[in-house]
Amino acid sequence: MKSSLEVLKDVFGYTSFRPGQEEVINQVLNRKNILAVMPTGAGKSMCYQIPALVNPGLTLVISPLISLMKDQIDSLKQNGISAAALNSATPQDEVNPILRQAYEGKIKLLYVTPERLAMEYFRYQLNFLDISLVAVDEAHCISQWGHDFRPAYRQIMEGVNSIKSKPNILALTATATPSVQKDIAEQLHIPPENYVITSFARPNLSFKVVDNPVNTELYLLDYIKKHSKQSGIIYASTRKNVEELTDYLAQNGILTASYHAGLSNKERADVQDAFQFDKVQIIVATNAFGMGIDKSNVRFVIHANSTPNLESYYQEAGRAGRDGEPCEGILIYHPKDIRLYRWFIEQSDLDDEYKKIQYQKLAMITRYVNTTECLQQFIVSYFGQNCNPCGKCSNCLGTFIEKDITNDSKNIISAIYELDSRFGKTVIADVVTGAKNQRMNEIHAQNLKHYDSLKRSKKSVIDLINFLISHNYLTLTDSQYPVVHVTNSGWDVLDDKKKVIQKTSKNTKTPKRITN
Ligand code: ADP
Ligand code: ZN
Repeated sequence: MKSSLEVLKDVFGYTSFRPGQEEVINQVLNRKNILAVMPTGAGKSMCYQIPALVNPGLTLVISPLISLMKDQIDSLKQNGISAAALNSATPQDEVNPILRQAYEGKIKLLYVTPERLAMEYFRYQLNFLDISLVAVDEAHCISQWGHDFRPAYRQIMEGVNSIKSKPNILALTATATPSVQKDIAEQLHIPPENYVITSFARPNLSFKVVDNPVNTELYLLDYIKKHSKQSGIIYASTRKNVEELTDYLAQNGILTASYHAGLSNKERADVQDAFQFDKVQIIVATNAFGMGIDKSNVRFVIHANSTPNLESYYQEAGRAGRDGEPCEGILIYHPKDIRLYRWFIEQSDLDDEYKKIQYQKLAMITRYVNTTECLQQFIVSYFGQNCNPCGKCSNCLGTFIEKDITNDSKNIISAIYELDSRFGKTVIADVVTGAKNQRMNEIHAQNLKHYDSLKRSKKSVIDLINFLISHNYLTLTDSQYPVVHVTNSGWDVLDDKKKVIQKTSKNTKTPKRITN
């Protein structure tokens, strides 16, 4: 029998393992249940493809997307490995022949959707197969705490339990916070000592936040002109935005193509090819673009609109620089994008608990934009790890002046306390700035101790409240008319256990802009 390293060399043509791969593969071959958390582009597929070739039986791969399966099977076939997929696109008369090939050991990897594994009849058919490993790709889809919850993922363990040959499980994901990791592991019976988590940091990727530019299109055009020989992806949130941006760039002489879910399969394949072979410099795309894209020399990923959570942001930005060479991930922030996502969540028919999680995830984007910490550090710590300041993100390179704003912050916190945490930002700002209006009369604000207690404009008080929210001294309730509450950190400020320091950019002399 060949060793894993021999398979890597002989079958895939690579010389050495990447971080984490060998450990995962060894543990899988030792028949352990494993959770592998490795960043996009780290080479997760290899972690089950090699065991699939070394193990005697069949490897069942649970994968969420038909297009992803297709790409994987095509590339396996190019390496001379037989693999097949069963999903809603498989013609009925091909199902049994595929299962027969698997039964005869002619197929080493069988890709299925979680919905297929949930089918009673399919579970019955699996009983005839000698399955040694079940690989669960994009395993964060199992968790409500993740950003991509998919109900059929919840039934995977039940499906695996019904398999007679008692396979072990390998769960893989690029984006799992510690609570998502725990959720995956509990559901798939993976003990904590069997986590393999490689570093989330992407040392070749420089992050940058561009806060509410006056003209986004001009910013993009200028950036692309300065990087004229480099491939880049620009993400926009809607098909309309994608098309408008594509037209604008094309009219200005940039070789650009669009990609979104409204294109036919053929059109999408053509766009992918054109990008892959450098016939277009820029792809402007919705988040439909990316999964399964394996272009190694993407030098920048710019988000013209924000994403609804940091997980998607990191995954999409991570498509830059798979070759390990320097690259950039730029987030252009517009407060209105955040308001739109808020509205989407509000209007959705998600249950309340899930809505609340989505609001919290959205709030992380605002915190990311407003942090003065290293951006790479911020992201990595969101995923539960530490790293050193990267030295090249827009915060590491920025110069800031520190200002102690503890007194004004205490004033606002105690006003909220006096108001019994019953009001939103506007009322609080009106109270402390001594506004005279109907609402103030209704709540008899003139009698409050904190009425007219801050000599600042209403706008600057709202900015300060927003600052305190984004730095977790205050928090907003998750509803359409959010009420401001004080967090434990906020109470610490009031008790003189903590100071509030605001960093101001030296260049602009204005605080970083904050909007919730
Ligand atoms: P992920 O699923 O983690 O995002 P993939 O499995 O798609 O990443 O792998 C990304 C790319 O890296 C693929 O082209 C793959 O062939 C390549 N790759 C994987 N392992 C290695 C390795 N050990 N050495 C070189 N390239 C590798
Ligand atoms: Zn940094």
